[in-house]
Amino acid sequence: MKYIGAHVSAAGGVENAPLNAHNIGATAFALFTKNQKQWIASPLTEKSIQLFKLRCEEYGFKAAHILPHDSYLINLGSPDPEGLEKSRAAFMDEMHRCEQLGLDRLNFHPGSHLNAISPDECLARIAESINMTLDKTSGVTAVIENTAGQGTNMGHTFEQIAQIIDQVEDKSRVGVCIDTAHSLAAGYELRTPEGFAETFRKFDAIIGFSFLKGMHINDSKKDLATRVDRHDSLGKGLMGMDTFRFILQDSRFDNIPLILETPDETLWAEEIAMLYGLV
Ligand SMILES: [Zn+2]
Ligand SMILES: [Zn+2]
Repeated sequence: MKYIGAHVSAAGGVENAPLNAHNIGATAFALFTKNQKQWIASPLTEKSIQLFKLRCEEYGFKAAHILPHDSYLINLGSPDPEGLEKSRAAFMDEMHRCEQLGLDRLNFHPGSHLNAISPDECLARIAESINMTLDKTSGVTAVIENTAGQGTNMGHTFEQIAQIIDQVEDKSRVGVCIDTAHSLAAGYELRTPEGFAETFRKFDAIIGFSFLKGMHINDSKKDLATRVDRHDSLGKGLMGMDTFRFILQDSRFDNIPLILETPDETLWAEEIAMLYGLV
């Protein structure tokens, strides 16, 4: 079974996210559990938590189909000791929020070396950050998102992600989210049957499908291997609809959240219906 949704707004409180997802016909959703542009957030209120859980139950959203995304400010591989400490504290807070909400996974971008440490050091630092967080939390899987490889962002190759996972102590609580737009921009062809098959053969060989905890379903304004991260609405960018058809008709992508992060939210209901039409 395919679970499809979008990264919906949680403005006014996390309890509004399941409502917003339900209103666009989603069976999965993503959200920020705090303002993603600020380091510090006030704690979730008991009322917000209860209402979030109640609405998830009411609209049939299970934890396995909800993919919270962490703040863009966090850099778990930061070369700067102060930045690293701040990032680790903020990431821990986000993991706690997921625990409070009964969620079982947290999606994040691995981190950036900022040309101040080597890529290998950065990947080791990211793994250490994950280990520190998993040590002090329970029930929530740290889900590494592949990136477009813009600037000094790590995680644009399957090998780099595998290198992080290799250094994580509790492999039962680390996972991966594959973003279609990031994959294309990072140099992974997804638009032809051969390219798609080869990309996910590599993914399975280097990382493994057992680690796949979610997908971001985005078209891309930027072409293959451009290393630039620009999402587009489905069918409006350079991806073409075939990629999405391959995913929706492939049982390896069953039972995980398939999340739109496309720029025009007025199209989400239509995009979700279109994706269901491809199943
Ligand atoms: Zn992301
Ligand atoms: Zn994404």
